[in-house]
Amino acid sequence: MYADPVTFPAELLTLLRGGPKLVALTGAGVSQESGLRTFRDAQAGLWAQYKPEDLASPEAFRRDPKLVWDWYAWRREAVKGVRPNPGHYALAEIEKRIPEFTLITQNVDGLHRMAGNLNVLELHGNIQRVRCADCHTFAETWDDDGESVPRCRECGGLLRPDVVWFGEALPRAQLEAAVEAARACQVFFSIGTSGVVQPAASLAFAAHNRGALIVEINAEPTPLTSKADYVFHGKSGEILPELVKAVWP
Ligand code: NAD
Ligand code: ZN
Repeated sequence: MYADPVTFPAELLTLLRGGPKLVALTGAGVSQESGLRTFRDAQAGLWAQYKPEDLASPEAFRRDPKLVWDWYAWRREAVKGVRPNPGHYALAEIEKRIPEFTLITQNVDGLHRMAGNLNVLELHGNIQRVRCADCHTFAETWDDDGESVPRCRECGGLLRPDVVWFGEALPRAQLEAAVEAARACQVFFSIGTSGVVQPAASLAFAAHNRGALIVEINAEPTPLTSKADYVFHGKSGEILPELVKAVWP
């Protein structure tokens, strides 16, 4: 189907050509076109009866570790088969063009690095990494008998994904670097994130308060929309490549 090319305001294109300090915060929406579900999409099949919020928490893991382990095993498999989409590649292109570009992501799928971005802050961890819930030792391999949650070879503790669950603290160094970049940037992009998960959501407001220009790309309005200087409604996998083409024809 023919879609109108997005029109970008000339001031924005000029600003980006000048190479401003730039931050992009991404969320699950950026990976939606790679075939990964966002948290707001309904869960499928076996998992349809659960809400992600009820599985991605320390309480859920304490209550039923096997259920949580299996859910992540299923998501890990889903991530293995997917590739970055044009939105990811456009962000990698932006990193090549803008000297001070920080990509902050809430995604745990690793697709930004796979697309070629180097300066990536993974605020919520990475679903491919597994660590001990007790002693934090990372595990590259484990014995899974299908009956119970695999255990740490160091201390016998339960293994868990190295992701940040609801109610858990973010990795401190990543968060500090993200806050610093958000405060220092001149332009802040918020892309494919519902802007409701804290503290990631507050980064855009921190940038806004320091006078950064806010650009939002999302399929739907969010709590940030009214504060944004430019809002592009639609798919990041379509808008971002168009933007890159318009800025650097
Ligand atoms: P979210 O699910 O809360 O929101 C997704 C947002 O993306 C929505 O605002 C939606 O309108 C928008 N969106 C959907 N498709 C889009 C598209 N093609 N283009 C542009 N926008 C689109 O996700 P969130 O804000 O990232 O926060 C929830 C949590 O979800 C995070 O903590 C994250 O760790 C976790 N999560 C990660 C993945 C992943 O790594 N791929 C997947 C699901 C959830
Ligand atoms: Zn251990």
